[in-house]
Amino acid sequence: MSVIEVNGLTKMYGRTKGIENVSFSVEEGEIFGFIGPNGAGKSTTIRTLLSLIYPTSGSASIFGKDCMKHAPEIKKEIGYLPSEVFYYDNMKVIDLLNYSASFYKKDCSHRIQELADRMDLDLKKKIDDLSFGNKKKVGIVQGLLHSPKLIILDEPTSGLDPLMQQTFFELLKEENQKGATILFSSHILSEVQRLCDRVAIIKEGSLIKVEKISTLKENNYKKFKIETKTKIDPNVFSKAGIKELKTEGNVISFLFKGNLNPILKEIASLDVNNLWIEEPDLEEIFMHFYQRES
Ligand code: ADP
Repeated sequence: MSVIEVNGLTKMYGRTKGIENVSFSVEEGEIFGFIGPNGAGKSTTIRTLLSLIYPTSGSASIFGKDCMKHAPEIKKEIGYLPSEVFYYDNMKVIDLLNYSASFYKKDCSHRIQELADRMDLDLKKKIDDLSFGNKKKVGIVQGLLHSPKLIILDEPTSGLDPLMQQTFFELLKEENQKGATILFSSHILSEVQRLCDRVAIIKEGSLIKVEKISTLKENNYKKFKIETKTKIDPNVFSKAGIKELKTEGNVISFLFKGNLNPILKEIASLDVNNLWIEEPDLEEIFMHFYQRES
């Protein structure tokens, strides 16, 4: 069964386009990535799913129920972490979390303590005194404390240090193994690759592609940068599969897709000073890989 179904969703903010004709579905038990650069329409889609804003046209359902008509009922089973968490209160963390927990008809106190321990969050502190990263942790605990069936996270990792990010990803994987479905938005492809089964790629309000991460990786360009001791003829790299060949002094760079062995042999025959092989970032994938589709 699809947990989330989005059908031809469009949202206009006056004359500004938020999203246009977006359709996708998320299956039960999936970790689904929602990826695109800033301003692509990720938050707009997510806010519509949570009926925080109303669509201009199209429809969306969660657990088979219309998101607008059944919002209060649906929300009980959702854990949501907004992209920006704002708390102006003079409240203690524990008081805020108990208040959040009071919306659900279950005892969440044990889970709150457990999550706080894992995330290294001091429940006795006042929210005002917390750093940005610690406020984010409060948001995470708030989103997970009722063991929701569906977890929706909007750019959840911004502000978390790498170690905490890892703990957070472990928590999400555990929730997923217990059966939770997860929708995870990000503009950072590498973190989505680590966690998700499938991704929807959104750009300028329109969905470009829904793809398995494994397929995305296979079809991906890698960025090569080679620094040699002496200047070499870039034509040694004029092989099929190479794009954007550039030379700058003793540095050659290019994008490559395909069998790595011939390229590595070519590099091995050079007098190499330094070598970088990197995954392209999302912007580059959009530029070089999705040009046709968009
Ligand atoms: P993302 O979450 O991918 O960064 P958003 O959904 O926030 O993207 O934004 C999509 C588009 O809608 C952007 O062009 C943005 O400027 C516009 N937009 C978002 N929220 C509003 C709003 N409240 N009023 C007007 N335009 C908005």
